[in-house]
Amino acid sequence: MKGRPVADTADPAAPDGADGDPSGPVLAIRNLTIGYGTGAPSVRGVDLSVRSGEIVGLIGESGSGKSSVALGCLGLLPKAAEVTADELTICGTDVLAADERTLTRMRGDSVAMVFQDAMGALDPSMRIGNQIAEVVTRHRGVKRAEARAVVRELLDKVGVPEPDRRARQYPHQLSGGLRQRAAVALALAGDPALLLADEPTTALDVTVQAGILELFRTVRDEFGVGIVLISHDIGVIAQTADRVAVMLDGEIVEHGGVEEVLLEPKTEYTRMLLRSVPHLDRPRDEPESRPVAGKPLYVVDDVSRTYRSRGRLIHAVQGVSLDVREGEVLGVVGESGSGKSTLAKMLVHLERPDSGRLTMSEPGHRAGGSGGGRAGRLRRRVQMVFQHPAGSLNPRLRVGTSVREPLAASDTGAKAAAERVREVLREVGLPEDSAARLPDEFSGGQKQRIAIARAIVGDPRVVVLDEPTSALDVSVQAQVLDLLSKIQRAENLTYVFISHDLAVVRAISDRVAVMYAGRLVELADAASLFEAPAHWYTRELLAAMPSPDPRDRPERPERRPRAGQAESGQAESGQGEEAAAPAGCAFASRCPAAEDNCRTVRPEPVELEPGRVVACHHPAGMEGR
Ligand code: SF4
Repeated sequence: MKGRPVADTADPAAPDGADGDPSGPVLAIRNLTIGYGTGAPSVRGVDLSVRSGEIVGLIGESGSGKSSVALGCLGLLPKAAEVTADELTICGTDVLAADERTLTRMRGDSVAMVFQDAMGALDPSMRIGNQIAEVVTRHRGVKRAEARAVVRELLDKVGVPEPDRRARQYPHQLSGGLRQRAAVALALAGDPALLLADEPTTALDVTVQAGILELFRTVRDEFGVGIVLISHDIGVIAQTADRVAVMLDGEIVEHGGVEEVLLEPKTEYTRMLLRSVPHLDRPRDEPESRPVAGKPLYVVDDVSRTYRSRGRLIHAVQGVSLDVREGEVLGVVGESGSGKSTLAKMLVHLERPDSGRLTMSEPGHRAGGSGGGRAGRLRRRVQMVFQHPAGSLNPRLRVGTSVREPLAASDTGAKAAAERVREVLREVGLPEDSAARLPDEFSGGQKQRIAIARAIVGDPRVVVLDEPTSALDVSVQAQVLDLLSKIQRAENLTYVFISHDLAVVRAISDRVAVMYAGRLVELADAASLFEAPAHWYTRELLAAMPSPDPRDRPERPERRPRAGQAESGQAESGQGEEAAAPAGCAFASRCPAAEDNCRTVRPEPVELEPGRVVACHHPAGMEGR
């Protein structure tokens, strides 16, 4: 193989096409190179082999070439791509020599793909059952009447509850998790030997993700399908793959058994990747000098926000009360529809609460004040950093102008403003000449640094960060988290840090609030919450987080949410917040500890012990306290 040397950990199970397996690998790639025109190839000298009934993980950061390899296998790269290989076969078919008809038959018969966005794979105008039946009849030679039974069996096998009813539904009527299960059923409809799954769980909540990863293990074990699982998430790979290949700049730099690669990495790049991964059991780094969280600075008192959509009431946030303390990082976690982003918008006055109050410990501050004067100044005391920095930066404005914007309404003079912009750009680790450049000249991580500079330039007291690292590669994420911690200490800032990723929240937070279906269900200091969660939803969230340590693989069934459990517990639209407020606990249908009173009496948040608030009739681990 050309290019970088590959660290190949001793792995007797690694198939090479001549290992005594009479059927040979379902996917065999030798020296695959993909290039475009005169530039350097985007994929170079890749060797990869997958056997029936095994999952091979492909990890690497964005731009490493993982997805190009998958698309190259399917013959789906753009026409301009120049693809060469000493061998590229799927179930013995030479992909590079095949004509379009052979490739079309191969896609579905021998190989199928599952994408991040299940909606892209499913036809929105066709019932789920009909879509799957069409593939079954085409690829299995089954008559239409018999196909219905196959569809039912497939939906049942991939964990779609009530398969007959779901088969009659359209894709938009399913939640995100059920939609991804339906997409897997569609991929399996042609009875393929190989499945290429490209970031199949990236768009899903962690509890739903756990069910889909379980499904991939089932597909491997029960259907004997060989799977290439592409993911940027090392936890996903650690908990699912049998072997792993690590890609960097278009090349595989290391491959071997999952335990060898992730526990004893041979290359510095893999070691760096693993070092960057946040861990649930790795708390915030606490230097001696860090100020202890102080008195309440921003008080959220019984705040609610309801929307009306297509005649339905959406209870986005319901009666949430909490205090944000001076100098702390308050993490807020919950799945999509939990209300955490609506809460964030109210904190920065992008949304007004219907009822309740948000009060900053500064006379006269009330949420939703007018734009100018004192109220405007107080508003600037709370700033926000979004998940996608590109959305908050005008692509036509120079970085310096964008960063200076929040100062425009203040009485800062032009000279002082320019000096402050230079200062914050230095603080976020960007060169001074960044001010004169346009946002497009920066990488994703650098753009997020610009967004942070813009948020802190006006000297706010509170910064609300809404999934600020979710769109970043793991190594860049680690750098941005480190930067945020340093800035918080240097400027004595208070953060509200919102994320679906509990390990990221653990890495930065002092206290953590957990939201479910628009309500606060648990609030505690980070150590107590992560080490002894009291609310059953918090426990489910923590159990569902895929550990980056392959020794934590889910041999024990209690670590795994049952197939379809988390998905079917949500409203079919996938928005937990859209469920009408039930009389009892909103989590009751998913809770392993639910009793009769949980279904009739709503649990209110109660301070069970100093600093720990839990909304649960039967909190875990609290017996005898
Ligand atoms: S109130 Fe009942 S259903 Fe809700 S989390 Fe507690 S035990 Fe479970």
